[in-house]
Amino acid sequence: MPVSATDPIHKIIIIGSGPAGWTAAIYAARAQLDPVCYAGVPKQTPSIVLPGGQLMLTTEVENYPGFPHGIMGPEMMAKFQEQAERFGTKVVGEDIERCEFSHDPATPHVLHTSEGKAVQARAVILATGATANWIGLPNEMRLATTGGGVSACAVCDGALPVFRGQPLAVVGGGDTAMEEATYLTKFASTVYVIHRRDSFRASKVMQQRYMSRANAKVLWNKAVVDVLGDEKISGVMLEDTVTGEKSTLDVRGLFIAIGHTPATSFLKGAGIELNEKGYVALHKRHSHTNIPGVFAAGDVADAEYRQAVTAAGMGCQSALDAERWLAAQGVD
Ligand code: NAP
Repeated sequence: MPVSATDPIHKIIIIGSGPAGWTAAIYAARAQLDPVCYAGVPKQTPSIVLPGGQLMLTTEVENYPGFPHGIMGPEMMAKFQEQAERFGTKVVGEDIERCEFSHDPATPHVLHTSEGKAVQARAVILATGATANWIGLPNEMRLATTGGGVSACAVCDGALPVFRGQPLAVVGGGDTAMEEATYLTKFASTVYVIHRRDSFRASKVMQQRYMSRANAKVLWNKAVVDVLGDEKISGVMLEDTVTGEKSTLDVRGLFIAIGHTPATSFLKGAGIELNEKGYVALHKRHSHTNIPGVFAAGDVADAEYRQAVTAAGMGCQSALDAERWLAAQGVD
């Protein structure tokens, strides 16, 4: 639906409801910019995407300053939202599916929602985060979407009774794989980290933490080429990436930890510059994108740090940048 002349022009719209989005909303609301936050709708694609972002799929967060005894991810996001709403943020439970960004600061940006509406704003903050990657095997997807024991989030699913005392596998060689595999050693009989090369890219400390567990094993130079089992996973077929030799490994759970993809599909054709990894490109240390009045914050623009606290910091930066930009346009 196109915008009409009588539709309101919001000062600022925030797209996304993780730590970056809510922090941007808190700052924008306290600056009396009357922010509207499009918090999104739950999806399973097959990775689960929830309003609130990746922390909704996390158990305890121990590294966010101010919570010396830790806090559960969903509880933390509820508190972020409560704080944003306390200062007057309007929250809308819809996705933004398409953007028509204006290159003229005097003309508002137009955003199209999942309910077919068009909304206008002078400034927009992109804070849609990133979702987990999959290997792309047909049986992986089938068993992931039917509760068959394949998951992209060990901290969400690893403690389920079905995985307790069972052999489990994690695919990947980065920090996420180490973190997830270490977590699973608490429940599994044996954890196998399956990695396609002969060295990890994970930080040494996280490698050592995993390797120090009695039930931790690593299968080097192995790729998962099929997932076995009808209703539940019974094992994986492996291929040696050096010799090409095939083998099978019996496991009752498979956790994929091979990186993330930023949630930028709604920006297709909108003229926003992305970097070589597909994340929103930011200019210097600011949250400015290549389009005037469009800012980005959190994992959608950060492949490197991907922490709740860094996303929140970026959310703060984006709201301050947006406030200054709006003031320069005579909007306050
Ligand atoms: P990552 O560093 O990009 O690592 C992805 C891993 O998956 C790599 O080992 C890669 O193998 C492997 N991989 C990619 N595609 C694959 C495929 N199709 N099949 C098999 N293996 C595949 O991603 P990440 O581990 O999610 O970490 C992302 C960022 O978050 C990093 O900067 C990391 O430091 C950070 N992080 C930090 C913490 C923490 O400090 N607590 C925790 C989690 C993540 P290759 O090595 O061969 O490329």
